[in-house]
Amino acid sequence: MTRKPRILVVEDEAAIRTGLLDVLVFHGYDVDAAENGTDGLAKALSGKFDLILLDVMLPGLDGFSVCNRIREQDREQAIIMLTAKTSDDDIIHGLSLGADDYVGKPFSVAQLILRIQAVLRRSGIDTQIADTLRLSDELEIDTRNLTAQCGDNTLSFTRREMDILQYLHRHHARPVPREELLNKIWGYAKHLDLETRTVDIHIAKLRRKLEPDPAQPRYLVTVRGAGYRLLVE
Ligand code: CA
Repeated sequence: MTRKPRILVVEDEAAIRTGLLDVLVFHGYDVDAAENGTDGLAKALSGKFDLILLDVMLPGLDGFSVCNRIREQDREQAIIMLTAKTSDDDIIHGLSLGADDYVGKPFSVAQLILRIQAVLRRSGIDTQIADTLRLSDELEIDTRNLTAQCGDNTLSFTRREMDILQYLHRHHARPVPREELLNKIWGYAKHLDLETRTVDIHIAKLRRKLEPDPAQPRYLVTVRGAGYRLLVE
């Protein structure tokens, strides 16, 4: 099955939170919610979400602080701030903390969905996730059936291996650090050497399946000091 984009809603007002979750599910997203900043931050740092919808006025830790703390750990996490405060100062403050966009309450659902799609697209996560990843004329990967066609051979993958391939494919314009893979695929927020080796083991397995010569990778290359990169021809 292809993965739906995952959105975390951090909103203390129950009516708005429930309304947002309904709308997002209706538009095909996987959702989770948090009712306050502390829980929101903990869930956001799990690395499981493609986008965080973050209210500013929250009990305890406010949305600006949550945004700031997420950014300290994860520069890539997509964040849209939601708030009744729409003065220019607040907007500038939110964006300067690294939010990707800002939607003022009350917002129209159509407007919000468009902004979500735009932010997901910018972070390389399309609302329509491709069923096939084409790496070259000889190699086409079927993400739905966890297989690849390589000449006359059919290769099969685990869900985890496919998640890695899909993530690298989405970000194929750059090398992806091992820490980022651990965060995004395994959901680890802190890294130990033992865990980064887990990434290397999975990459080695993928190379044995995909590469004509695993010792001289053509698709899954190592960029020294920067991570792994998937080369798409
Ligand atoms: Ca609020």
